[in-house]
Amino acid sequence: MQDFDVIIVGAGPAGCAAARVLAQANWHVGLFDKAEFPREKTCGDALIPDAHLALEKLGLGERVAQICHPTTALRLISFNGSEVSVRGKTSSMPRIRLDTLLLAAAQESGADFHAGYDFKSANEEADSNYTVAFATSQDEVLVRAPWVLMATGANVVPLEAVGLLERAEPSSFAVRQYVRNHRLAKYSDELVFIFDHTVKGGYGWVFPGPDGIFNIGIGYFGSSKKHSRIREDFERFIQCQPLVRDLMSDGEIVSPLKGAPIRTGLSGARFAEGGILATGECVGSTFPLTGEGIGKALETGIIAAESLLSHATQGRVMVATHYIAKMNALKPKYAAYRKVEILLCWPGLANLLVARASRSAYMRDRLGALFSEQVDPARLFKPHTWLKIFSL
Ligand SMILES: Cc1cc2nc3c(=O)[nH]c(=O)nc-3n(C[C@H](O)[C@H](O)[C@H](O)COP(=O)(O)OP(=O)(O)OC[C@H]3O[C@@H](n4cnc5c(N)ncnc54)[C@H](O)[C@@H]3O)c2cc1C
Repeated sequence: MQDFDVIIVGAGPAGCAAARVLAQANWHVGLFDKAEFPREKTCGDALIPDAHLALEKLGLGERVAQICHPTTALRLISFNGSEVSVRGKTSSMPRIRLDTLLLAAAQESGADFHAGYDFKSANEEADSNYTVAFATSQDEVLVRAPWVLMATGANVVPLEAVGLLERAEPSSFAVRQYVRNHRLAKYSDELVFIFDHTVKGGYGWVFPGPDGIFNIGIGYFGSSKKHSRIREDFERFIQCQPLVRDLMSDGEIVSPLKGAPIRTGLSGARFAEGGILATGECVGSTFPLTGEGIGKALETGIIAAESLLSHATQGRVMVATHYIAKMNALKPKYAAYRKVEILLCWPGLANLLVARASRSAYMRDRLGALFSEQVDPARLFKPHTWLKIFSL
């Protein structure tokens, strides 16, 4: 049986970020994923400021800059067509390219990667090591380590197997399609979020990417069960929304429509138990409201790795305590996004807020600061902030 210092399950942004940090510190890292790579991950592909910060921290900012499509701002279009742009370091690149880059970075730091390994169980032995079982196309493989890091995204089955799952139901569900349009690509340097009557209780997006290819999608706040007609809603969205209709008029569809669940709000799972930690989307690290999760998957993966590096010699309780405290410190950001999500579900209020923000440099500045994580989100919901907004 092969031994590691840590076994990481899942080679998405969370798992690869953790693997890179731990391998750079000379930990013997076993990184396992059930998929063969390069693999597609259904996503909007947008990188918001937190993703850029985490990529810089991993030493990958330059590499990503060379292949991403840079954008200058996030544009919010409300139900009545009013719109506002909020500046911030943003970009976009297909997940197949980003995840290939992240995996290569983990491997180049020394992580030992195994594709086609489907996690089945982690059993604690008398010597405090975990024996981890994977199913491969050939047979079952057992590996061993004192630490296990679960980074399995929105797939709740592995998390349930290790006893960390608290809520199986996803927080939301989204679909996306790639469309090439070289005519509009020349003018597209913003990530566009759209609140539209065709997507009730949700939002749509148009994100320009490299090579004139746009990622277009819709997503819903709330459980996927409530939104069984998402394909029909997507069709209505692309036919009715003016920006999307223009894009589709001479655009070429270059992928099927694909959907996936999303786990948001930093909820739905425990962060740690014994020598097992969980990180990234499996613990709900994706933001409510926007469904943006690459940045926080990277960030929470780094936090998990740093907790192991700084406290492993002091034992499991110290690692878990440190990790849980760091994760809990992120919660106010999620609460702020959730509050805005609730507010923007009301078309009249969304129209009013977007219209005010478009006229108010103060509001745009505050939104930009929230988006770029430069302000305590709790301050945005203080009465004096709202008084200021409505007296503008
Ligand atoms: C339609 C859609 C649009 C989105 N748009 C955006 C966006 O524009 N920007 C953004 O920042 N975020 C977006 N997100 C969210 C983003 O995709 C996630 O937040 C992000 O992928 C989470 O990273 P992760 O590493 O935690 O999980 P993942 O990227 O899902 O990686 C998990 C990995 O675990 C592996 N795995 C799962 N089960 C097992 C198992 N049993 N054994 C072994 N391996 C396993 C999977 O194969 C996968 O490689 C979107 C999500 C959806 C669904």
